[in-house]
Amino acid sequence: MELPRKVAVGGGVVMELPDICKDLKLLPRAVIVTGPNTEKVVGRTIFELLEESGFQPETLITSASKMDEVERAKDLAREIGAGFLIGAGGGRSIDIAKLASVRGNIPFLSVPTAASHDGICSAQASLTVNGETTSVPAQAPLAIVADTKIISQAPARLLAAGCGDIISNYTAILDWKLAHRLRNEEYSEYASALSGMTAQMIVELAPEIRPGLEESAKIVLKALISSSVAMSIAGSSRPASGSEHKFAHAVNLIAPARALHGELCGLGTIIMMYLHGGDWKMIRTALSQVGAPTVAAQLGLDAETVIEALISAHKIRPDRYTILDTGLNRKAASRAAEATGII
Ligand SMILES: [Zn+2]
Repeated sequence: MELPRKVAVGGGVVMELPDICKDLKLLPRAVIVTGPNTEKVVGRTIFELLEESGFQPETLITSASKMDEVERAKDLAREIGAGFLIGAGGGRSIDIAKLASVRGNIPFLSVPTAASHDGICSAQASLTVNGETTSVPAQAPLAIVADTKIISQAPARLLAAGCGDIISNYTAILDWKLAHRLRNEEYSEYASALSGMTAQMIVELAPEIRPGLEESAKIVLKALISSSVAMSIAGSSRPASGSEHKFAHAVNLIAPARALHGELCGLGTIIMMYLHGGDWKMIRTALSQVGAPTVAAQLGLDAETVIEALISAHKIRPDRYTILDTGLNRKAASRAAEATGII
């Protein structure tokens, strides 16, 4: 089981980063992987804080989630003899640092600037390979430093997407249980219970989650971290990724870059809950309470895209059995999307 050793969540915790690095006995040289905007939001601050505390950081600004960028980060780390990497940003920079850390065999720290998906704390990285977004197994961060003062200032859409990624645990678990019953797939009660409880908490607190509030950022961050812990216990992303994630990836293949990962997962959860015969209205209500989309048109997606994605989603990651593998035809897909008001 791979878990972070230090997790700091709260207002101003970024100031504690140098002490955290010292506690972890990290070597002085470091590569800060950040984006053009996130460099201004947090990258520069981290650089200065580390330098003042006797570390020797170098900044690498990345612009795409591509393997070239991972190589660039790994090469720079090797060149300067870095003892660790820091991924500072919304997701892309963290994923690049995460993969470079595996390849360079050094630890990485996660400093998220938004709470938009569980990749900020999980051992999985998302990468664009041949124009397609794929999930790549990597490693969990050695530490997570999530400053809610910074994260609460992120665009509202990102926080809502983060809630969608957490709420998707509901159907991920149902798919997992199904695979356990039908395929004898290994199943962890603990991982499943933790993942389910996390999603339930977000649904219960949904009416109070508001963008711009530090308390809301804290709730969503803790839930994302808790989802990642569930994945660590399971040793796979099973507790937090099922048919709704397949649907999200399928939409991205048909209509790339229209919507955020968590937004599509949220939409997918409504439909998959309907297919599982569960309380899909509860899911839809919670998503709308946090300001996440519940209708495809809100994301500029037409009915055909949704139906096509529903029918083709089972082809994504075929080894992962879900409700979609029980045979969803076009007519039923269209009925499910219409009945839930997605199209
Ligand atoms: Zn996800």
